Amino acid sequence: MAGKLFIVPTPIGNLGDMTIRAIEVLKNVDKILAEDTRTTKVLLNHYHILTRLESFHLHNEHHKVQHFINQILDGLTFAQVSDAGTPAISDPGYLLVREALKHDIQVEVLPGPTAFVPALIKSGFPLHKFIFEGFIPAKKGKLTKLTEFAEANCTIVFYESPHKILKTLISLAELCEPNRLISVSRELTKKFEETITGPISDVVLHFQNKAPKGEFVVVLAAKNIELKSDEIEN
Ligand code: SAM
Repeated sequence: MAGKLFIVPTPIGNLGDMTIRAIEVLKNVDKILAEDTRTTKVLLNHYHILTRLESFHLHNEHHKVQHFINQILDGLTFAQVSDAGTPAISDPGYLLVREALKHDIQVEVLPGPTAFVPALIKSGFPLHKFIFEGFIPAKKGKLTKLTEFAEANCTIVFYESPHKILKTLISLAELCEPNRLISVSRELTKKFEETITGPISDVVLHFQNKAPKGEFVVVLAAKNIELKSDEIEN
């Protein structure tokens, strides 16, 4: 009988954000497929999980996927994790899930941490409809993408690196109406968690005065959305 594939979200900064079921699954599977085994080892040590780890990341996933599928078909049960958050969300995961489904392998996806959800909610922007853009193009296509965002009629959320965020915010400020609202969350669930929300030009000014550090999620409000207060910071 075939085994099973679990997709297990892991904390995005606060080790306490593991669910009881996530810990149980990681304890009981035959093997954990991890993006970076050293990163996952810290989590496993914290929860006294002794399960074997094997690396499975962007650079070897095409090469290893069939091997793992064969092992699951032979009866083994695996859990896939990424360095942080939910696998397959701007992380490896999609390929293994797709192949597992093709082979009628049961895939169980646990709900859990992912960075864009708390950032969206902390923005205070309407969320009846939003678009998740993952990482935006670094160079080619970036301007087209940001121009598209400037015209959007719903909330847009995307991931950005600390080295590029200021430039991205300045470009957005040039492309959008002056009062367009944006919310930038950094270091979610960590000690220096911070969310800056307000008109783009104010948020640009904030990061010109305080160099961006850490991990970032950007939430751009739809056109014509106004907040009650001028600027919210927390
Ligand atoms: N799979 C992850 C998820 O479910 O959110 C995303 C992985 S992606 C490779 C990493 C990016 O997610 C970071 O560059 C950053 O934009 C965002 N991110 C991850 N952890 C974060 C945190 N604690 N605070 C803010 N952004 C975070």
